[in-house]
Amino acid sequence: MTTYEPVIGLEVHAELLTESKMFCACAVVDSTQAEPNTVTCPVCLGMPGTLPVINARAIEMGVRVGLALGCEIPAFSQFARKNYFYPDLPKGYQISQFEYPLAVRGHVDIDLPDGSTKRIGVTRAHLEEDAGKLTHTGSGKSLVDLNRAGVPLLEIVSEPDMRSAEEAEAYARKLRSIIQYLGVNHGDMSKGVLRFEANISVRPAGSTELRTRTEVKNLNSIRSMMRAIEKEVERQIRLWESGEGVKQATLGWDEDRGQILIQRIKESASDYRYFPEPDLPIVRMTEAEVERLRASLPELPDARQARFVREYGLSPADAATLVSERAVADYYEAALAAGADPQPAANFLLGEVFRRMNAESLGRDQIGAIKVTPEALAGLLGLVRAGTITLTTAKKVLDVLYAEGGDPAAIVQARGLAQVSDEGPIVAAIEAVLAANPKEVAGVLAGQDKLAKFLMGQVMRELRGRGEPATVQRLLDAALEKRRG
Ligand SMILES: [Zn+2]
Repeated sequence: MTTYEPVIGLEVHAELLTESKMFCACAVVDSTQAEPNTVTCPVCLGMPGTLPVINARAIEMGVRVGLALGCEIPAFSQFARKNYFYPDLPKGYQISQFEYPLAVRGHVDIDLPDGSTKRIGVTRAHLEEDAGKLTHTGSGKSLVDLNRAGVPLLEIVSEPDMRSAEEAEAYARKLRSIIQYLGVNHGDMSKGVLRFEANISVRPAGSTELRTRTEVKNLNSIRSMMRAIEKEVERQIRLWESGEGVKQATLGWDEDRGQILIQRIKESASDYRYFPEPDLPIVRMTEAEVERLRASLPELPDARQARFVREYGLSPADAATLVSERAVADYYEAALAAGADPQPAANFLLGEVFRRMNAESLGRDQIGAIKVTPEALAGLLGLVRAGTITLTTAKKVLDVLYAEGGDPAAIVQARGLAQVSDEGPIVAAIEAVLAANPKEVAGVLAGQDKLAKFLMGQVMRELRGRGEPATVQRLLDAALEKRRG
């Protein structure tokens, strides 16, 4: 049987965080919150005789994304009409860019599970306006909300360089992270501000041919995108194996059923009868403007990851996790600024803090909302470093901080959690444990080392995790030695 290799390209649509829409003065609102059809005007309703005006801020944001993706910014770009009829598009055409996009020929470097990186080509990024939102009621009626009509969208088109759903995921996550760092999109996919379309074909592994591809539209989360890619790859392999072959098509995705839906045979560009938008001027970018925008770019995820490895001595994997959400990287650096050591802070954040956030399904981008401030985390780790509390106690204090907030030193004092290194109480605990476990003591004396660990655990428990481990171990060894003699 032939082994097949998927060939995947992604189109990512990112809503830009402008205050007003792409071609009119209407505000951009959260379409899951605002009352339908309350934020519209004659321009975005597509009334005859109205004229669009380009949102300069959207152009700037688009160019900044292009620069962050290593794209060339051509000296001019041009808007074009993409003609098609759909109920969410009152004008009967969408203003997009076709022959002359805003940015071309860039790339995104993705991290692969084996630790290597792979460069995925970015063909182009262009600006367009979003269409309205349709809600199908299920009784044969569909509702149209035009609040979203005219919201600026940046479409970022990749080369077909991805070979698995996991690579597509890594690309999507990196791209999401980059546009979040740029502050042009908040990355909240539950609100539809980031949407995906996947172009998929398969070919015999090792060949370089490009077979007929299909396009899966309307993927609203990275998870749906991955599931849809996996299903579509399976479907295409079945079609080639059965001899039927794959036909070019536009496909949908039924998230609830986890199924690919055949929607229509794909239109080609000529079906859209693109032509230059006569109501808008050509957009010119001088070199000076491009350089000004380049200079305004923040430190991006790849550079920040490299710096975390270089300056803080973190592993590339830890650094990658910390930088993938800007909010997490900012939190981490705030903890360091408050005096935390880099590695313990990374361990605590990636392990203990994330575990508590996961337990209540809090996204990592929500880290700014938790009650443990970066300063409190630094204070907590400072208490461990100074030997005031053990690591076990630190986790208990973190529980309190996570639930109630507050100052770690005050919590330790109020609850009597400070580490015990006085020998008196430690010896008392050891004697109590040894007296209560004669069989285990006999076992240790007969050479069963595992039981020695058990006794150590019992003593630590007796001390409620507050015993200074080295002292406890030393005194326990001495007590056992005495019984040997
Ligand atoms: Zn409007």
